[in-house]
Amino acid sequence: MDKIYKILVIDDDPTLCLIAEKKLSQYGYQVFTAETGNEGITKDLECMPDLVLLDYDLPDMGGIDVCKYLRQNITRKDKPIVFVAGTDEYQSIESAFQAGATDFSRKPINWTILIYRIKYLLRAYEINLSLISSEERLTKAQKIAKIANWDYHLVNESFNWSNTVYDLLNIYKQSRTSFTVQDFLRHVPAQDTDIVREAIVNCVNNHVNFEIEHEILTGDGGTKIISHMGNVIKNDVNEVVDCIGTLQDITERRNTENQVRALAYFDSLTGLMNRESFLMVLDKVLETNKQYQLLSALLFIDLDDFKRVNDSLGHNFGDLLLCDIAERLRNCIRTAEQDKCYKTDNLRMIGNILPDRVFSASSIDFNRFDLGRLGGDEFTVFLADIPNEEVAASVAGRLLKALEKPFNLDGHEVYVTFSIGIAISPNDGDSIQTLLKNADTAMYSAKTNGKNNFQYYTKAMNERSLYRLTLESDLRNAISNDELYLVFQPQVCLQRGCLIGAEALMRWRHRTKGEISPAEFIPLAEETGQILVIGDWLFTQISQYLKTWKQQGLIQENFKLALNISSLQFHQTDILEKVRQQFPDSKLNKHLEFELTETVMMNNVETNLKKLKTLATYNISLSIDDFGTGYSSLSYLHRFPVDTVKIDRSFVSNMENDGQVGIVKAIIAMAHGMNIKVVAEGIENQWQYDFLKEEGCNIGQGYFLYRPMKKDQFQQLLLESVNKVSVCP
Ligand code: C2E
Ligand code: CA
Ligand code: CA
Repeated sequence: MDKIYKILVIDDDPTLCLIAEKKLSQYGYQVFTAETGNEGITKDLECMPDLVLLDYDLPDMGGIDVCKYLRQNITRKDKPIVFVAGTDEYQSIESAFQAGATDFSRKPINWTILIYRIKYLLRAYEINLSLISSEERLTKAQKIAKIANWDYHLVNESFNWSNTVYDLLNIYKQSRTSFTVQDFLRHVPAQDTDIVREAIVNCVNNHVNFEIEHEILTGDGGTKIISHMGNVIKNDVNEVVDCIGTLQDITERRNTENQVRALAYFDSLTGLMNRESFLMVLDKVLETNKQYQLLSALLFIDLDDFKRVNDSLGHNFGDLLLCDIAERLRNCIRTAEQDKCYKTDNLRMIGNILPDRVFSASSIDFNRFDLGRLGGDEFTVFLADIPNEEVAASVAGRLLKALEKPFNLDGHEVYVTFSIGIAISPNDGDSIQTLLKNADTAMYSAKTNGKNNFQYYTKAMNERSLYRLTLESDLRNAISNDELYLVFQPQVCLQRGCLIGAEALMRWRHRTKGEISPAEFIPLAEETGQILVIGDWLFTQISQYLKTWKQQGLIQENFKLALNISSLQFHQTDILEKVRQQFPDSKLNKHLEFELTETVMMNNVETNLKKLKTLATYNISLSIDDFGTGYSSLSYLHRFPVDTVKIDRSFVSNMENDGQVGIVKAIIAMAHGMNIKVVAEGIENQWQYDFLKEEGCNIGQGYFLYRPMKKDQFQQLLLESVNKVSVCP
């Protein structure tokens, strides 16, 4: 039976603890939680967890102190401790690692990726434990017999250096007494000096054994890598009498190891991963992707006429071309994908799959686990975790664009074209063999399709990709053709049952395709930047509606109209000016609420904070949309001027049967504790309505109450509600 790992979560944010407990136990972990540092330390002793998730900021003692404390527990001193912090400042990462952290994860937590990491950390921990076996000790002893050494006699407090030390350092023999630790340290490169000094001092003064690897600078100007061990020698009655250090030159071994590994894993021409390692990595990634149901894409790229280049210019030019192609692939994937956290996190995760030592070999780009050269003129790009299938097409389109510019090969200008095949996992295969075969097939259909294009493996995906292309260009005309309009979904005060506000939702009536959901066109508009124009349009509309309704006496004192602000729109540099221009009247603005998601706010916290505070001075309220799907920490969000949180529909709709009630209750209680109003989204039945009302949730929105409705119908509703005698306060 598989071992059940225990994880201790130390975080003062109860919502985060709840979510951690839920997510981690889904993957078979046994979870303990603690809300303070002291409680964490006690629980650590009690429960003996295999891994600790530790908040950087705790109320009673800092996460750093907790970490140091946990590291003192000698029986499991190597167990992984993962810091979770709302900051990625270098200083905190540095001090966390100094305190003994194994890994560092940033808030908001991406649970999918964190769970991956936890899995790998636990695996590494197990391997580490099994390595410290008796066999290891035996080889250590054998090594001691034949290598350079120093020893330190406690009685006369003196160091002795063996002659072989001078050989190792390539220096003339000095008189034994005149060579000191300080002299030795002068042969250690600056980046290693502190570590080596500390290890020796600690061994001599505190009797702590050590084993480190470091470089030394030899007398003839060279460098060597040495394995350096310090051991404490005891007499029969267990008293320390002597400390012995051994130094072994392992330069050659390391170099050959690195070379062998580099040759085994990387293509020597382009420096990209070769077929073997690419498949190996892919195999592992697909395995985990399957487990966590992630979407990924394999792009199979083939040069359309490589033979022509080779035949006309010769093989040397062919090689140059391949190198240039590799370089463009690197740049192209790097610029666009690297700033997305899902991508970099994944790269790190993939990095763990290949043996450690590969990283220290020179001349190879070890950060690229997403590019491969399978042989000849065939290249592959692997997108490990994509939000939707369409992303693969936009990457492929971008690659084709980057590759269509002429290559300059030693003065010869060469134009080449490429065909790209795309296979999506899991849909087109969840094993590498199938995926590769299908991407290859897709690549051939791109070739028969006239070359210089990309094709998905599945017909449906090709159609979809075409559909999106036309949609994208149609969207450009949607505003001028008057095809966009707004609908309003009323929001109801749960406690009194009266109308209290509405969310404005966008609709697109396409002239031939009919109604298109915003869930479809908003992400598209985001990708292409069109959301900016659409966002401006939205502001104008909302501003007009508010004015008219106010003039017509349709809105009551406490009425709020909420609108959705997309990420790109909010991050525009001139967003504040735009808001000011469209919404100059702060009396009217008290009826206005901006809905932003947590993720939008967490990106670039300091700048956002400024923007949001300014919006507050305009009298515009702020609401957190889709709460619970991102980082889900109210205590962190409290830094922002938040008026309302909207519990995401997924929590509300799963309440009855999925034990989400705990989370919903916790969110309501926490929010109220901070004087933040709670809106429940997606109420679809009486049970949900009654429960939320009972729990004191302020506002409800959902099909059970009202569906989004057109302007006229909504105005009618406003009118009725104004005429009602029982006015909501
Ligand atoms: P959202 O902000 O989470 O909006 C709520 C969505 O849930 C709306 O879908 C709404 O019609 C739907 N909904 C409300 N109650 C229920 C219910 O009881 N059951 C179910 N199944 N669904 C319910 P819609 O209108 O399709 O909007 C989808 C998303 O598109 C929105 O999610 C929002 O992210 C985006 N969106 C809509 N309008 C705009 C806009 O004007 N600007 C921006 N930037 N995004 C918008
Ligand atoms: Ca919304
Ligand atoms: Ca929402």
